[in-house]
Amino acid sequence: MNTSVSVKDLSLAFGTVSVLQDMNLDIGDGEFLVLLGPSGCGKSTLLNCIAGLIDVSSGQIFINGRNVTWEEPKDRGIGMVFQSYALYPQMTVEKNLSFGLRVAGMPKPQIAERVTRASEILQIGALLQRKPAALSGGQRQRVAIGRALVRDAEVFLFDEPLSNLDAKLRSELRVEIKRLHQKLGNTMIYVTHDQIEAMTLADRIAVMKGGVIQQLDAPQQIYNRPVNRFVAGFLGSPG
Ligand code: ADP
Ligand code: MG
Repeated sequence: MNTSVSVKDLSLAFGTVSVLQDMNLDIGDGEFLVLLGPSGCGKSTLLNCIAGLIDVSSGQIFINGRNVTWEEPKDRGIGMVFQSYALYPQMTVEKNLSFGLRVAGMPKPQIAERVTRASEILQIGALLQRKPAALSGGQRQRVAIGRALVRDAEVFLFDEPLSNLDAKLRSELRVEIKRLHQKLGNTMIYVTHDQIEAMTLADRIAVMKGGVIQQLDAPQQIYNRPVNRFVAGFLGSPG
């Protein structure tokens, strides 16, 4: 399998506080990788470094073989979905989906094509003329995913996209995200502190603690053969 995202010797500190330590991580092309760990372990920081929203202290990041360590976020070929939907409240769903493409100067027919395709995939076609305030939490999160989708990104980054939703919606959208991955085949990096999400979505899970990956394996492997007590306590079987 080709490597899609590669993190090499990455370290990050905020001032004197070290958050990520000498991290190395290779993510396969089309892989669904989950970053799992307790709050404060550095998951979002790692994702933001990959996205280019935070400058690394040292180390390098490659996307599809290209060294993107000092590239602008918009040039990295990624689409990102956050926990808070971050939709533009004054714009309709359609405008929310198309805004980034218009700013980038894409021709109108092509924008329309992308918006139609994304809204079909995410089943939000009937919502296009509404504004975010008139949507449910689940619908808003679909639009947020749609905004990443229209960019035709090579790599999708999700930062706890379902954390603000109730349990029923969470399980519905979990299924949807899985379906999306199967349909698109993109590389996806998905941050969560929710063990069930990790177990059901991931091809592999990277279990993190204190800015260090403790174990990187398929869900069953981690569950059955945790490498240390922390992983066992967080995700592994009791035996
Ligand atoms: P997670 O997403 O796993 O909950 P984060 O990556 O958000 O963890 O945070 C990791 C650590 O870095 C935490 O201790 C947090 O307080 C700290 N941190 C995150 N962002 C900043 C920042 N901008 N300035 C200083 N410290 C930060
Ligand atoms: Mg976080």
